[in-house]
Amino acid sequence: MFSGLERIDTLREQLQEHNYRYYVLDDPSVPDVEYDLLMRELRELEAVHPQAVTPDSPTQRVGAAPAEGFTPVTHTVSMLSLSDVFTDAEVEDFDRRVSTVLDRGEVTYTAEPKMDGLAVSLTYEQGSLVQAATRGDGSRGENVTANVRTIESIPLRLRGHDYPAVLEVRGEVYMPRDGFDSYNQRARSANEKPLANPRNGAAGSLRQLEPKITAGRPLAFFAYAAITRAGLPDTQFEVLNRLRDWGFPVNPEVRRVTGVSGCTGFYHYLEELRPGLNYDIDGVVYKVDSFDSQDELGFVARAPRWAVARKFPAEEEITRLLEIDVQVGRTGAITPVARLEPVSVAGVTVTNATLHNEDEIRRKDVRPGDWVVIRRAGDVIPEVVRSLPERRETELPEWPFPQNCPVCGSAIEKIDGEAIARCSGGLFCPAQRKQSIRHFATRKALDIEGLGDKLVDMLVDAGLLDSVADLFELKLEDVAGLERMGEKSASNLLQQLEQCKDVSLARLLYALGIREVGEVTARSLAEVFGSMGALEQAGIEDLLAVPDVGPIVAEHVYQFFREAHNQMVIDQLLAAGVRPRSVRVVKAGGPLEGQVWVLTGTLEYPRSRAKKWLESLGAKVTGSVSKNTTALLAGEAAGSKLAKAEDLGVRVVDSEEFDGMLKEHAINTTA
Ligand code: NAD
Repeated sequence: MFSGLERIDTLREQLQEHNYRYYVLDDPSVPDVEYDLLMRELRELEAVHPQAVTPDSPTQRVGAAPAEGFTPVTHTVSMLSLSDVFTDAEVEDFDRRVSTVLDRGEVTYTAEPKMDGLAVSLTYEQGSLVQAATRGDGSRGENVTANVRTIESIPLRLRGHDYPAVLEVRGEVYMPRDGFDSYNQRARSANEKPLANPRNGAAGSLRQLEPKITAGRPLAFFAYAAITRAGLPDTQFEVLNRLRDWGFPVNPEVRRVTGVSGCTGFYHYLEELRPGLNYDIDGVVYKVDSFDSQDELGFVARAPRWAVARKFPAEEEITRLLEIDVQVGRTGAITPVARLEPVSVAGVTVTNATLHNEDEIRRKDVRPGDWVVIRRAGDVIPEVVRSLPERRETELPEWPFPQNCPVCGSAIEKIDGEAIARCSGGLFCPAQRKQSIRHFATRKALDIEGLGDKLVDMLVDAGLLDSVADLFELKLEDVAGLERMGEKSASNLLQQLEQCKDVSLARLLYALGIREVGEVTARSLAEVFGSMGALEQAGIEDLLAVPDVGPIVAEHVYQFFREAHNQMVIDQLLAAGVRPRSVRVVKAGGPLEGQVWVLTGTLEYPRSRAKKWLESLGAKVTGSVSKNTTALLAGEAAGSKLAKAEDLGVRVVDSEEFDGMLKEHAINTTA
């Protein structure tokens, strides 16, 4: 009994501290799951010891009191929290409780995404924004009007005329993911502290004493409630529509649903949508739609009885960092990887997580043996968000970043101002060699189907491959002698390699893995220079003249061909019979000069490529048919453009004729 009460005190103290860090400092020290567990434990203990429940217990209160520096605002209607549920069974319980009180059959709910930002209350008088306040402790919040005025999606003036003289609207200020990512990218390159997550980013940005700082942050808003009742519809769903009419952004995913099945259907729908959304949601909210019914249901201490939040499984968890390893990438980039005590994050067991680079390790103060917060969102690679140094039982030494590549022993180089460290071993480093050979074989490169990752490892480990050029010198008996290979697969591989010798210059350039040269750049380089020889001779200025080649790419390409090792590999490839096919380069004044083409229907090739070929022959490609059109290239299921061309007597070219034309002008369609 006594220990239960003692535990209650400890939990309250801890939760109060977490609330302060979360709501006042916008800098939580534990992930939400951890906080939720403590809260749950306190709630359960208070249920056993009801006499110990005090009005100031964190179970009875919302948020935290307004911070110093802001003028407090007293809310006319309290801004409450929402009760959480985590399972279908708990949603059923909620619906049963609601239906029992209302006793009118199946209940209609408005189902809404639960935005992960912070709540604000906006007051409009005669259609103009006059006040904005945070939730604070639910009864008193902070006046953040000047800051809120800088958020573009919040209307300063309402649209239309039928709004009430005084209107109070509530909603969530949030930080869109793209804005969060670019903010953090900028912060990292300026050596400033990045934002922990979009929620803290939103709260920290809005609760600035200096509105100029808020104005510089990417914030947005969704309205989700009107407190004013007079002159508004009497259901939540219709109110949201009305708010939309008055110019408020309302989440487009809001739906009206009935009963438990409607609620669960919405949950699963949003669960699928979630990874692709440009904002964070941590669950869905079900609200009894009718305001009369809401009034009948009323409130408990800190939340309404007519609404519930169904939370998604947490994306952050805590686990122990066992050790830090490094991985060596194709370009020698050294990435530290955390080896973790296995932990389930959002339904998947995570044992490794990226630590990005040395600066991140130092900034997050992550040391082997630490307790760390892991985040796994959608399909993104799990990452270590931060360490929990306050949990260290003993002094932990900092992790020494290796001086030498763990694979080949070459020195690790770090260029000033660059976050990434690299192994200087180049093609001597088996790790880089393996990666570069794997890349050479990938689908968009030489597409060597029989050359999988395992086989590359075996060939390199057996000392048969020093570079990609050695692939073309492999002997049947060498390959067949490898474990689990056999004569047949070995001969298949050699046959495929033989076929790959006939390759477009663009693919070969991409396959060489020149830094910053992706498929598109490789194609542009091939089109402009036409041959390996011409590219090898190209100076920086020549390279800069290529579409989408900037100074960095130009420098990488230039340096690549100046490196003796690379030159050797290329010479060896050519000597082995690799014949890069060049694309014909047609300068202005091509055979179709002066012609205007329009494309329509489903073509045999992607439209962008057909367009490029036509342009390379000197034609202009436009979007609509007119009497100035020379020809219409019409694929399957051509519609109105074809009709118009026929009307105007414009020449219509079908796929077959087009193919013939490309051949005639030596356009290589496989490049
Ligand atoms: P809550 O965030 O779970 O629910 C209430 C809030 O939901 C509202 O204030 C509103 O801001 C928001 N909301 C989003 N979409 C909404 C919609 N469509 N309709 C209505 N409301 C909507 O409750 P809470 O009391 O603010 O905070 C609890 C959460 O904060 C928990 O997830 C908890 O883990 C976290 N927390 C974490 C720490 C920490 O230290 N890590 C500390 C305190 C709180």
